[in-house]
Amino acid sequence: MEPRVVIIGGGFGGLRAAQALGRSGQAQVTLIDKRNHHLFQPLLYQVATASLNPSDIAVPIRQVLAHYRKVSVRMEAAVSIDLAGKVVVTDAGRHPYEYLILAAGASHSYFGHPEWEELAPGLKTVEQALEIRRRALTAFEQAEKESDPHIQARLLTFVVIGGGPTGVEMAGALAELAHAIAASDFRNINPAMPRVILLQGGDRVLPQFAPDLSAKAKAALERKGVEVRLDKLAKDITPEGVRLDDAFIPAANVIWAAGVKPAAINKGLGVPLDREGRVIVGPDMSLPGHPDAFVIGDQAHFDTPTGPLPGLAPVAMQQGVHVAANILREIDGKARKHFKYLDKGTMAVIGRSFAVTDFHGIRIGGYFAWLMWLFVHIMYLVGHRNRIIVLINWAWSYLTFKRGARLITSKGWKENEPVPAPKPATAPVTASA
Ligand SMILES: Cc1cc2nc3c(=O)[nH]c(=O)nc-3n(C[C@H](O)[C@H](O)[C@H](O)COP(=O)(O)OP(=O)(O)OC[C@H]3O[C@@H](n4cnc5c(N)ncnc54)[C@H](O)[C@@H]3O)c2cc1C
Repeated sequence: MEPRVVIIGGGFGGLRAAQALGRSGQAQVTLIDKRNHHLFQPLLYQVATASLNPSDIAVPIRQVLAHYRKVSVRMEAAVSIDLAGKVVVTDAGRHPYEYLILAAGASHSYFGHPEWEELAPGLKTVEQALEIRRRALTAFEQAEKESDPHIQARLLTFVVIGGGPTGVEMAGALAELAHAIAASDFRNINPAMPRVILLQGGDRVLPQFAPDLSAKAKAALERKGVEVRLDKLAKDITPEGVRLDDAFIPAANVIWAAGVKPAAINKGLGVPLDREGRVIVGPDMSLPGHPDAFVIGDQAHFDTPTGPLPGLAPVAMQQGVHVAANILREIDGKARKHFKYLDKGTMAVIGRSFAVTDFHGIRIGGYFAWLMWLFVHIMYLVGHRNRIIVLINWAWSYLTFKRGARLITSKGWKENEPVPAPKPATAPVTASA
């Protein structure tokens, strides 16, 4: 009898594990995800800034796994896990298992301020990217018909909170979007008026990279017109803007890129977690005391001599493949192997022709790094269709400076339902930065 393997999460880690097990045909696999699609999160900022459409970077999980006869997909949300009884409980039923692979990823952390989420969406799902896009494009439409320069300035001020890779990529792309469309498509907006402000709590952007690459990234952002403010923490976010220690920035659009926390399901497992809430796993990615349950990707804390592995797609993918291989080894009566991460370097992109990349100490910033970034992202996109469409979209945007996905859509669908404005234009706010 083939063992039942339940995988929670069809992201980078879970999908790789399902593909490896499916290819072998030696296990009955059930992949559970609360969404029907696998999402390529590294390009989500391009959906938020109207370069790409959601379907260019997402693909139905069911479709990816369709040709593996022994893999079934359930669109359900995992609610709890009974590790002793070996059962996953979802919003639709119970799934007994012989092996469990937990790969539910992470969500945003607002550092004890959940009320900020409404005012400053983060970038983790298609819905969030579309909401950021809707708010940004609507702000331009409102600014076009606004005669009060203070209100217009507030509408056209975008604050990105967090200077890690997501914040830097978002700020660079927003600046390009703002300056390109303000100059060409609007008649009542001064092209110099849109502002993109990047707030970073530490003393440099991209703190994961070497200081010289951080400096290059900051300079590249500033060349694009982004105002980079270092050592600045958001003290409060209000419908009017962002409060710092020493100033208030009136802004209609605030984007959160400051922190993530692992999936909530970790808390109910009753196993040791690290400070961030990640499950501390053993050398084979299994849970101490529960060798049949593995935790991978952003949910897991895997120690190495230089500290825990970061929340990156290659980490999750390699762990997914490794855990699947260990399950197959065990089915064949062989011993498990320890996980070893193969570091393929890190990269971050700033707009249409600049990236920074660090490959084992070989550090590059500029156009060549950007070409490498393009190549790697196309390679790792799931689905041939998506690769071709993204390439065509990028080429078109690169040559024309235009954005192909500038639609303002709302959740309302009835014909006469008004498209909601994100936040009402208000009276000018005096204290500003
Ligand atoms: C905006 C952004 C940009 C990024 N850029 C990069 C980059 O350039 N390079 C890089 O290496 N990494 C990048 N990352 C990080 C990378 O995306 C993650 O490290 C990676 O996705 C982790 O993979 P995972 O399998 O652990 O989780 P995910 O890929 O997040 O997948 C988790 C899956 O679990 C599902 N799920 C969650 N909870 C439940 C539940 N209770 N029940 C059922 N299903 C559930 C989710 O729907 C999701 O499909 C970026 C992340 C973001 C958000």
